[in-house]
Amino acid sequence: MDPKLKYILLKTVQDDGILPITSVCNMACQFCSHRNNPPGLDVHRLGHLDLELIEELLQYLDPEGPVIIGESATRIIEGDPLAHPEFFQIIELVRESFPLKGIRITTNGSFLDRERVDFLAGRRPVELNISLNCSSPEERVFLMADRRPEQVFTALELLAERELVFHGSIVAMPHLMGWESLGRTIELLNGYGAKSIRIFLPGFTRYSSARMQFPVEEMYGRIAEFIEGYKGLDTPVLLEPPAINDLQAVVKGIIPGSPAARSNLKKGALITAVNGERPLSRVDAFQRILVSANPLLQYEQEGVGGEPVRGELVLEKEAGERSGLILDYDLDPAVMDQLTRAFLQNRDKRIALLTSVAAEGIMGAFLDYYRHSLKHLYNPLQQDSVQGNCVRQSRLSPDRQSACRIEGAGQRGGTGQAEGPQEAAGREGCIDLLVAENRFFGGSIIAAGLLTVSDIMDRLRESSQSYDLLLLPGIIFDNFGNDLSGRNYREIEEEAGVTVEII
Ligand code: SF4
Repeated sequence: MDPKLKYILLKTVQDDGILPITSVCNMACQFCSHRNNPPGLDVHRLGHLDLELIEELLQYLDPEGPVIIGESATRIIEGDPLAHPEFFQIIELVRESFPLKGIRITTNGSFLDRERVDFLAGRRPVELNISLNCSSPEERVFLMADRRPEQVFTALELLAERELVFHGSIVAMPHLMGWESLGRTIELLNGYGAKSIRIFLPGFTRYSSARMQFPVEEMYGRIAEFIEGYKGLDTPVLLEPPAINDLQAVVKGIIPGSPAARSNLKKGALITAVNGERPLSRVDAFQRILVSANPLLQYEQEGVGGEPVRGELVLEKEAGERSGLILDYDLDPAVMDQLTRAFLQNRDKRIALLTSVAAEGIMGAFLDYYRHSLKHLYNPLQQDSVQGNCVRQSRLSPDRQSACRIEGAGQRGGTGQAEGPQEAAGREGCIDLLVAENRFFGGSIIAAGLLTVSDIMDRLRESSQSYDLLLLPGIIFDNFGNDLSGRNYREIEEEAGVTVEII
C-alpha cells in the first residue's frame, strides 16, 4: 500500500475513531456525493482492506469511545461495510481487541439478512445506522439502484425482533420522490422503533444535472415545516444540517428509552449548567454530560401552560454512558480554546478568521462570546487596557462588510461603519470574520470541509484588507496540509503574504 494512504488510514482510525474497511458499495444512489464531484479530487478509493491491515489499524484505536464503521472519512471514499466479504471476521477482530467497545455501523441495509442481524445481536453493544431513504422496494430501485430492494425492509423487522439499536437516515428528495414518500419513510422507521431519524438535505454541485438541483433555502424551509408535522412521534425526527446561529445548549431531541427519556427534560430545553458550570457550547454540554456519572443539570424549558420554567435534576446514568440527549454539533471547546489563544497571542496583529457559509452564525456567536467574556477572562489584570482584536464580520465583498462589533480600549471601532485601511492602521490589531463560498464545488455546497485553497484565495482577493495572520479550519486540509484539490496551504502564504495557522 502507498505509505501516504496508509498514514491517512492510521490517522483516521486514531483521530476520528473511524475504521475504514472498504470503498466498495453495491448501490448507485442518485444523490451519492461521489457522482457529482469536480474532476481531479484528491480522494482515495480502497478495495476491501485485508484482515492483516485491519488488525494493525485496530491498534491505533482509542480505547475510549465507540468504533465507527461505514462512515465517511474525509479523504477516503466510504463504501458499504457489509459488502466486505470478511465482515464477520472484522467484527470478531474488533471484539477480540475491545470486548466492550460500542460498534457503530452505517449501512444501506441491502446485505442485512437474518444471519448478519443475529451475528450482530450477539456482539453487542452494536448500533446501526440504516440509510433507508425511501419507503418501498420500488422506490429503492429508482433512487438507489438497489438490486436486493426487499432486503432492507426485512432487515427493519429483524432489527426490531432482535431489539438491536438502530437509527434511520433519509436523504430527502421530495422533488423526485414526492412528499408522501418522505412521510411514509419517516413513519416506517418510527414504526420499527428507530432511536432517531435524520433527514438530510441533499447536496448538489455545479456538476450535478439540472434535475438534481433545487432552490436550497426554499427546500430547506419546506422540509423543516414538513418535519414539524411529525414532532409528536416517539422517535425524534432531525433535520441536517441544522440551522443554528448560537452556542446555546438547546436539546434538539431525546432518544426513547434513554436516561434522558426517563427524566423531566423535553425537546427544546436549554441546558444552562452541567455540574454547576455553564457549558460553552452544545458540544461542550454533550461532552460534559457524557463523561459524568449522574450529572447535575440545570435547565430552562416550557412549562405545562407554555410559560418558561427553570429546574434542576440529576440525570441518572453511568460515566461514559450516552444520555440520550440530542444536541446539534456547533463548536468544540478545544477549538474555542485554540482560537482564543491565537487571538490573545496576536493582539497586535491583523487577523482574518475564515469560515464557511454554513458556520458563519456559529463563528459569529463565538466572536461575540470572545468579545464579552473570554478576552477579559484570560486577561483579568488588563481588563481596562486590552487593546486590539477589533472583531468585524465580512462576507462576500468589501462593500458588504458589516460594522465593527467590539469596542475595546484603544479601539476606534464601534462607529457602526466598517473601517478603512487608514483607520485600521491606527489600531493595534483586529479580527475579521471572512466567510468564504464553496465556489470550487458550487451548487448548494456551503461546508468548511469542502472549501479549497482557490476558494480561500478568492475570498482574500475580495477583501479590501491585508492580514498578518489567517486562521483556517483544520477540516479543509489533510495531514499533509493539502486541500481536496491537492493544493497545499503554503500556496496561500506565498501568494497572499500572510502567515497561516490551521485550527
Ligand atoms: S449507499 Fe452511500 S456510498 Fe453507496 S451509492 Fe448510496 S450514497 Fe453512495
